[in-house]
Amino acid sequence: MFNGGWRSLLNVLLPYSTPCIICSTPISAHPINDNSLPWLSQLKLEKDLCRQCIHEISWLDKVLCRRCGRSIRCPDCQHKLQSALWVNRSAVRYNEQMKQWLHRYKFQGDERLSILFGKMLLPAVEQVSLQLINRYGLEESWRKSRKLPTAWLQHSTTYGWDAVTAVPLSVQRLQERGFNQAERLASVISTHCFIPYYNLLSRTHHSLVRHSHQGRQARVMDSKEQYSGNIKQWHQWLNENGTAISKRETLNILIVDDVYTTGSTLNACAEALLRVSPLPLVVASVTWARS
Ligand SMILES: [Zn+2]
Ligand SMILES: [Zn+2]
Repeated sequence: MFNGGWRSLLNVLLPYSTPCIICSTPISAHPINDNSLPWLSQLKLEKDLCRQCIHEISWLDKVLCRRCGRSIRCPDCQHKLQSALWVNRSAVRYNEQMKQWLHRYKFQGDERLSILFGKMLLPAVEQVSLQLINRYGLEESWRKSRKLPTAWLQHSTTYGWDAVTAVPLSVQRLQERGFNQAERLASVISTHCFIPYYNLLSRTHHSLVRHSHQGRQARVMDSKEQYSGNIKQWHQWLNENGTAISKRETLNILIVDDVYTTGSTLNACAEALLRVSPLPLVVASVTWARS
């Protein structure tokens, strides 16, 4: 029998199954039932990951700091009086395993990983949407709807998310990596949640020292100077959504990034958005990991 014949015979005997994106083990796509994480089955991660890899995800499901979404009562936020960034929620705790996953994503840029990581962010988006509902005192009407918070907000002409944006990379880093991981995650959120995506931020200069090598104070100072509003995109956004935006007293923007460490980057981005906005802003963020 010729080669192709053997292959098609094998395909009949061994039904094709996709390998796990992370470890390449063949996937048995049985739906997941985890009573402690009831929303997990909706993400359908079993289409991309094997059981073992799903099990290794360190979900950040117990939020104790309502401001930055950490699973501890965090001293950083208790001492902060006011910041441009309103709240943050993250998908996973940044442990060794998750660091390896993110490293692989940043340096391989596999499209399947973009979609997987973007999907993993959706529960964090629901958490910030619920915070937004609470902020505007709409919890009762939302509860009656029995919808997920983001889907419910989408139909509100006065309170929903007006745009999703991403923390920009410097031109140099973008050239090295070939893609902006935060932008890709933001575009998955945009598609899933029907929130328009715009590049509302620009990077003004490239930091010579990597953030992970800087002290806290230096990091805050450095971040402040690195971001500004992307005026061209702001004009486009306001023009394309003029009717919706004219009904708003406040604009609600969601920023996406891969990791939240001290919050100085996201806060600097929120400040940059506030500097150029024609209306008061509520700026929240979601990040894939929280260190
Ligand atoms: Zn796996
Ligand atoms: Zn905190």
